[in-house]
Amino acid sequence: MKAVVMEARGGPEVLRLAEVPAPEPGPKEVRLRVRAAALNHLDVWVRKGVASPRIPLPHILGSDASGVVEAVGPGVKAFRPGDEVVVNPGISCGLCERCLSGEDNLCPHYEILGEHRPGAYAQYLVVPEANLAPKPKGLSFAEAAALPLAFLTAWQMVVDKLEVRPGDDVLVMAAGSGVSVAAIQIAKLFGGRVIATAGSEEKLRKALELGADEGVNYTHPDWHKEVRRLTGGKGADKVVDHTGALYFEGVIKATANGGRIAIAGASSGYEGTLPFAHVFYRQLSILGSTMASKSRLFPILRLVEAGRLRPVVGQVLPLEAAAEGHRLLEERRVFGKVVLEVA
Ligand code: ZN
Repeated sequence: MKAVVMEARGGPEVLRLAEVPAPEPGPKEVRLRVRAAALNHLDVWVRKGVASPRIPLPHILGSDASGVVEAVGPGVKAFRPGDEVVVNPGISCGLCERCLSGEDNLCPHYEILGEHRPGAYAQYLVVPEANLAPKPKGLSFAEAAALPLAFLTAWQMVVDKLEVRPGDDVLVMAAGSGVSVAAIQIAKLFGGRVIATAGSEEKLRKALELGADEGVNYTHPDWHKEVRRLTGGKGADKVVDHTGALYFEGVIKATANGGRIAIAGASSGYEGTLPFAHVFYRQLSILGSTMASKSRLFPILRLVEAGRLRPVVGQVLPLEAAAEGHRLLEERRVFGKVVLEVA
């Protein structure tokens, strides 16, 4: 099969189109003909060797996929060849206490497709049957592939960690990212008033179109003061953040007394300074978040089918242009998801 393989850790140039053996489905596994694969910042971190630096090379990146079931392994019950599906990228043992409690993203054997095992930048992909869901009706394959990782991540942050409720002022950092595009919509659905930040006026305009109530350009050094002003001096009650070291001090200052900050990434850098006095004196809660339980994909897909949440695809490229997709992502030139179409 054709696949884009990562031959070394480094810049986008380490991604190369290659011919590799197609994977075979084992028991309770399904092989898909991939039709679309969406990019995530995780792909960039793995490519650079910052995340999972010891995975063997060559490696196939890609956590998000949609496609058509092509073959099923022994014991597969819910899917058959020809089914159009979307892939849930979090893979867990299904047997431990965490898994059985619905906390499968805390499973000690938790793996993310494309990080810990071969991913979706390929014509064929093998995943456990438990990681498939029917593709929402009315969505293209590219739109469907844009959903899982970003919407799962945003759902756990907004609903499970921050517990956004009507009347909350919700700050969503870096509105153009896949996770934030999802978080803006989910926070609105749960009654929040959304203040979105972005680095350009065009991205702010698109965030408002998506439902954000206010926009703040966070390239201005005093951006956190603008968040304070927009909240009557109080600050944001709940914060969705994955921007990392560069913006963390501003995030802390933009958060209301007693506020909650959920962090699901650190795009601008992994090492920052924690202003302890703000955390204890103003009683802030800083909540780490990674992915979500597999179960959360069900309400997400229902809300997408009902037209109440929607994927935002900013750029579609062919599979062989994966390196170009990585550049677009790293240079933040796209609002919404970068998706590779697989011929
Ligand atoms: Zn488990």
